[in-house]
Amino acid sequence: MTQPLPFIDLAAQQARLGDRLRLAIDTVLREGTYIMGRQVADFERELAEFCGARHVISCANGTDALMLPLMAWGIGPGDAVFVPSFTFIASAEAPALLGATPVFVDVQPETFDMDPASLHGAVAHARSLGLRPRAVIPVDLFGLPSDYDTLLPLAEDLGLLVLADAAQGFGGAINDCRAGTFGQATATSFFPAKPLGCYGDGGAVLTDDDQLATRLRSLRFHGKGQDKYDNVAIGLNSRLDTLQAAILSEKLAIFTDELAARDRIAARYTAAFQDRCPNSIITPTVPAGYQSAWAQYTLRVAQRDQMMAACKEQGVPTMVYYPIPLHRQSGYAHYPQAPLGCPVSEQLAAEVVSLPMHPYLGEQDQSRIIDVVCSAVEKTI
Ligand SMILES: *Cc1c(COP(=O)(O)O)cnc(C)c1O
Repeated sequence: MTQPLPFIDLAAQQARLGDRLRLAIDTVLREGTYIMGRQVADFERELAEFCGARHVISCANGTDALMLPLMAWGIGPGDAVFVPSFTFIASAEAPALLGATPVFVDVQPETFDMDPASLHGAVAHARSLGLRPRAVIPVDLFGLPSDYDTLLPLAEDLGLLVLADAAQGFGGAINDCRAGTFGQATATSFFPAKPLGCYGDGGAVLTDDDQLATRLRSLRFHGKGQDKYDNVAIGLNSRLDTLQAAILSEKLAIFTDELAARDRIAARYTAAFQDRCPNSIITPTVPAGYQSAWAQYTLRVAQRDQMMAACKEQGVPTMVYYPIPLHRQSGYAHYPQAPLGCPVSEQLAAEVVSLPMHPYLGEQDQSRIIDVVCSAVEKTI
């Protein structure tokens, strides 16, 4: 059998960055400012410039990046925060940890993002339960920005603050607006497997709101006031390591190029599957004017388990993100959901499968993946 392929290839990226990465790391080691060194401020400025947000407040991970704005807004017990059911657990964990009530909203079958009609129903339901609707967390799942053209005005009508979860979607865009500029605040993650990842944990909040930015800078540093021994709020210890910031600056320098490579690879997958097995595979939808960051390339297939087993046999790794929707997770099943439930989330959880996707996936390897996937689904129908 030929060598199994990697699902993502961080080694290829590391080889490309080469000496620049070593130099950046060595500089931090030489300077010795491991917490809040100058590289942190440099990276924050570069990231703000990249996406057009006014402020970037880096922090320890993407989950904290979701917590911090909710904390800054004073969200807690009695408050409802609306979260899609088909996402990674952190989207609901952040409001739940603050004592607020996550309310699960269904998603759309084509784009996997929050369904506005389901959100509307969920807000009414939360009110009927005596909860105060405060915020909504649309998730840019698998890299595709949520339908902010619909969700932002709807949230405003419903009196909700919008915290965009772009942990997977950073690098995506709608027309000329990059992820990081939709809603009152955006959270992102630099977990190694995300489109822009570091070599450990990291995250950031992006916002255009000056007051919120000041509060976030305080909250990530134990609620500091004038200095770190003046504490004006109850905060977190949640800073991005200087080493990680230095690494991220090097990765950001090649990020635009990597996003273009991801887009080419996704287009090639989609063209091949639509040509060769259009009846047994549903390819991802990217609405006109949208740019996905392609955190994942995710298909829908009916006979998923058989397809995955056949791929594995041929050395092609596949993954299921996510097998259990949040409203079915045992730690979260007691929270309310939209009045019609989350049937689309349940169906997607049963059908989705993600293929290897990274900017260094060569044409030959990709052809092999396409061949294996097509013959696997043909065998199962
Ligand atoms: C990864 C992820 C997070 C959390 O990021 P961490 O850095 O791992 O804490 C939040 N939301 C979504 C949708 C994610 O994929």
